[in-house]
Amino acid sequence: MFCHQCQEAARNVGCSGKAGVCGKTEPVANLQDLLVYTLKGVAEFNQQARKHGLHKPETDEQMLDGLFSTITNANFDGEAIKDRIDRALFTREEIKKALQNEGKLEEKAYGDFATWETNRKNYEEKSTEKKVGILRDENEDVRSLRSLVLFGLKGISAYGEHAYNLGKHNPEISEFIEKALLATEDDSLSADDLTALVLDTGAKGVEVMALLDEANTSAYGNPEITEVELGVRDRPAILVSGHDLKDFDELLEQTKDQGVDIYTHSEMLPANYYPAFKKYDHFVGNYGSSWWNQKVEFDSFNGPVLFTTNCIVPPKESYTDRIYTTGASGYPGFKHIANRDKGGVKDFSEVIDHAKKLPAPTGVEEGKLVGGFAHNQVMQLADKVVDAVKSGAIKQFFVMAGCDGRMKDREYYTDFAKALPEDTVILTAGCAKYRYNKLELGDIGGIPRVLDAGQCNDSYSLAVIALKLKEVFELEDVNELPISYNIAWYEQKAVIVLLALLSLGIKNIKLGPTLPAFLSPNVANVLVEKFGINGIQTVEEDMEQFLG
Ligand code: SF4
Repeated sequence: MFCHQCQEAARNVGCSGKAGVCGKTEPVANLQDLLVYTLKGVAEFNQQARKHGLHKPETDEQMLDGLFSTITNANFDGEAIKDRIDRALFTREEIKKALQNEGKLEEKAYGDFATWETNRKNYEEKSTEKKVGILRDENEDVRSLRSLVLFGLKGISAYGEHAYNLGKHNPEISEFIEKALLATEDDSLSADDLTALVLDTGAKGVEVMALLDEANTSAYGNPEITEVELGVRDRPAILVSGHDLKDFDELLEQTKDQGVDIYTHSEMLPANYYPAFKKYDHFVGNYGSSWWNQKVEFDSFNGPVLFTTNCIVPPKESYTDRIYTTGASGYPGFKHIANRDKGGVKDFSEVIDHAKKLPAPTGVEEGKLVGGFAHNQVMQLADKVVDAVKSGAIKQFFVMAGCDGRMKDREYYTDFAKALPEDTVILTAGCAKYRYNKLELGDIGGIPRVLDAGQCNDSYSLAVIALKLKEVFELEDVNELPISYNIAWYEQKAVIVLLALLSLGIKNIKLGPTLPAFLSPNVANVLVEKFGINGIQTVEEDMEQFLG
């Protein structure tokens, strides 16, 4: 195996050997590469099918789900990945047949990714072929640029699938995913071509985040300022992790009047901010903190946990039997809730029945947390914010969005938040917030000093806020605003968030805790020279750089 897609890549080079730092085993890592490889074959024929009106829309969902299942910490289940390879091979052949039947199949030399076939029992062997994995590219710059595109596409797919689940789909985004996937196999493309493709991927990232924003807000209303309960009640309960609001909605509905409470964990916290979910009395609040604390927090929660997406940590035996996955997520030994049929709902009755037999959660903290500052809510406070900037009460905003992670060097973000002057405000989204959202940072004239927009995809909200402020202050360039960017990344959704911000013209982003392992020195230089991207140093040095 070789995997370098996340911030935890071993030695900041890549994970190899028997397992990655995240716990992904060598066979699963290789199978995920084979799934991506196979999806390129689907893309090859589906591009032709689109030209001739032979495209089947369900292929788009398959592509989104397939790529999403290869995101860091989403799916550790080799059999589930093999199922997806089965489906991808079947779809590829179906599309090919349809093209042949219509006399539309292009005659050309197809790559192995579009023609390979073998029995399921041989998938593992196939997955070890060099041409399947990341290291097929000898040239490190080509490998780096292709990785940037692929990881951006994985992020797009994750957001695209959440939107799809809510009935929002943009076929142009799916068409782009296919084209860009194929481009990562196209040896005729130059480094400049690939760099342009990276930026196009970022632009599609903006579109998919806008689509998901529309999907979430049209279904559940605009996030609003909310005090989220952190304590527990004395009834059995289910803890929901991940990002999928449709799953969350269906579970809330099915647990109504069942004597079972619902709590959010980690990236599901922002579900508390949506008006539509507030009508459920049994939706209590948020339990615990960031994803990497799950080994402690799932133990004390006592009830079932539902993963709607990443981030899964290889579990302790003590709670393995009460963890459920659904959608793109999976782990061997966890029970998996099947997808909904078209027009139907998922059946969470097994999780609910399980919860009824288990004790209530043990409290880990008390109090409340304030959030819900997505773009619509912030715009309602625009006058107040603009006055505070004009009067000098707010000197600077810091976008500290992104991911959290388990490594000690992420304490930097807590220290950075603590060290910020009192006339600054943090704009956040994603689980990066857990590094400082429970600090007593106070407010500025009633505006909290940590404004949480929501999940990582709600970084889109932060970009919308920045663009609106640019308008209000009548500036030419969004970079003239008193907003600095100190972003923490972990997995591939953060990659697409970063590329999206770059495509919106945002410069001088500080990225940490380390720069991606998949950036070759030359590609990193391009990002530095063109966009001013730079890594973190010490809190003092960075504070001096931002404010000095
Ligand atoms: Fe390593 Fe990250 Fe890949 Fe896991 S996802 S194998 S930690 S680089």
